[in-house]
Amino acid sequence: MPVFTFKREHLKPGENLCEHCTAMCCRYFSVPIDTPTTRGELDNIRWFMLHGRVTVYVEDDVWYLCVYGDCKHILPDYRCGTYETRPQICREYSTNKCEYDDKGLHDKLFDTPEQIYEYMEALYPAKKKKAAKGPKGVRLPVVS
Ligand code: SF4
Ligand code: SF4
Repeated sequence: MPVFTFKREHLKPGENLCEHCTAMCCRYFSVPIDTPTTRGELDNIRWFMLHGRVTVYVEDDVWYLCVYGDCKHILPDYRCGTYETRPQICREYSTNKCEYDDKGLHDKLFDTPEQIYEYMEALYPAKKKKAAKGPKGVRLPVVS
């Protein structure tokens, strides 16, 4: 997690919190996904997570897929390079509930596909394959 030396409560009237941020909210997107209820569905999520910087988190019983990637319009000084034509979702976002200086805590967080695999194994353990039938052992010739 980044270190936030400037706190929200230090904002002066009329000052914008974004001026103290490195455009955190422009570096990922997250979308709600169906709650996985089977081993196969968790395995599909594991597959999503094998594709790069992808995490999965749960908030208020809703599962989200979070994909990290910088927006192409972030300017070197962290401002928006397409402010006049920025997407609607950016227009509706506000500093009121943004992630600046939050603790990044979720009800559940899976950072790696291995974590999802462990969760899947705990909830829906893989069925053990039956041992193949065959000779129990091989009798070796006795050398005298
Ligand atoms: S809205 Fe919040 S997270 Fe986004 S740039 Fe502003 S302060 Fe940073
Ligand atoms: S369009 Fe602008 S505000 Fe929207 S994510 Fe990109 S840089 Fe951020």
